[in-house]
Amino acid sequence: MKKKVIVIGAGPAGMMAAGKAAERGHDVLLLEKNDKVGKKLLISGKGRCNITNITDIEGLIRNIPGNGNFLYSAFYNFSNEDLINFFNQYGLKTKVERGGRVFPVTDRAQDVVETLLGFVKEKGAKILLNAPVQQIKAYDGKVKSVVLKDGRELECQSAILATGGASYPGTGSTGDGYRIARELGHTIKEIKPSLVPLLAEEEWVRELQGLTLKNVSIKLLSGNGKKIYEDFGEMLFTHFGVSGPIILSGSRHILDYDYKNIKLVIDLKPALTEEVLDARIQRDFERFSRKQFKNSLDELLPKKMIPVIVRLSGIAPEKPVNQITREERRGLVKLLKSLELNIVGSRPIREAIVTAGGVSVDEINPSTMESRIVKGLYFAGEVMDLDGYTGGFNLTIAFSTGYLAGSSC
Ligand SMILES: Cc1cc2nc3c(=O)[nH]c(=O)nc-3n(C[C@H](O)[C@H](O)[C@H](O)COP(=O)(O)OP(=O)(O)OC[C@H]3O[C@@H](n4cnc5c(N)ncnc54)[C@H](O)[C@@H]3O)c2cc1C
Repeated sequence: MKKKVIVIGAGPAGMMAAGKAAERGHDVLLLEKNDKVGKKLLISGKGRCNITNITDIEGLIRNIPGNGNFLYSAFYNFSNEDLINFFNQYGLKTKVERGGRVFPVTDRAQDVVETLLGFVKEKGAKILLNAPVQQIKAYDGKVKSVVLKDGRELECQSAILATGGASYPGTGSTGDGYRIARELGHTIKEIKPSLVPLLAEEEWVRELQGLTLKNVSIKLLSGNGKKIYEDFGEMLFTHFGVSGPIILSGSRHILDYDYKNIKLVIDLKPALTEEVLDARIQRDFERFSRKQFKNSLDELLPKKMIPVIVRLSGIAPEKPVNQITREERRGLVKLLKSLELNIVGSRPIREAIVTAGGVSVDEINPSTMESRIVKGLYFAGEVMDLDGYTGGFNLTIAFSTGYLAGSSC
């Protein structure tokens, strides 16, 4: 039966849902508050858009902590493989990079947005831009209409809420969906920033602001010293603490600790054992035996880092290298292998890649994405209490749940 379906939010979840619902013959209207679609998608993956990941379905679920199990139906119904085929069929070729990450071969997120938009239009869904939604009205436990901010009321039989989370609000995701869902009786699980830069207690990070470290390894330890996370790759120092790919990935693992009372341990020389590093430093010290300690580390560390390491080592900066004791050298080795920072919080949600928390999945049917509270109301994407690690998992959530909502409404 042909229905009037309104999809709210033209991000990846909303566009996929709208296209799919229109393909099934419904009369679909996609409402977007911005003057263009897919604003967040455009900046995803540093403008390259990491669409999905080639891992198997179990792998997808493992990379979605918390409520990953909720997504079995959505992923079996429209998997990462189906998603790749979908884009390929619409002329967007994809490639696989490190860690199974899938990108468009063009490295342009813009191409992903245009492909989705092409799909929506081809299937006959109408799009209304500059159309912020204020409310969904229900009557007798069933969706009745969608009300725009300007007061216009649009009747419909089904509404798909795909308004995204609360991070990067400049892209349009200002958390409206949480209020709209709450007003209809849904529970909103506490909203928290995830995949987010971290705040460090130590003042010295400021001196290192802007410094990127490639090929370092990190550990995140809880207050009682338990290892929570380990990774290798790139990080950077900022005026408040640390950021960069491995820090953002690590951040999701310490969300349940509220980003507090965590130790970050950085191994600046992960390719070298303590013994090998010690021998290397010993050789450097022999070569530069007349230099002062502060001038002896140029070949070992980035320039910006030297004054900080010298200070933290406790070795007098002016001390001639040939007078440095074995114990002091050993201490330096330890410092380089395990530079410690106390993590005391995270940057705010507006700077998080993704929002953890949202509409409780207990109140959503996982086989259809329909609300268990209001008939004809469906959810898709980040507005739900679902979030993944880095690697294409968040967009996979958006696309698969969007597809399922569009298939069920
Ligand atoms: C910088 C950055 C990089 C990222 N890179 C990646 C990546 O490479 N891979 C990956 O998997 N994930 C990535 N993510 C996460 C991913 O982009 C999101 O999880 C995904 O976009 C969520 O899709 P969505 O459709 O649910 O929400 P959104 O993409 O946020 O779309 C929601 C849409 O709803 C609209 N809207 C909101 N409220 C209303 C309203 N009241 N009325 C009408 N419209 C409304 C918004 O304007 C927006 O267009 C990245 C996120 C950021 C911020």
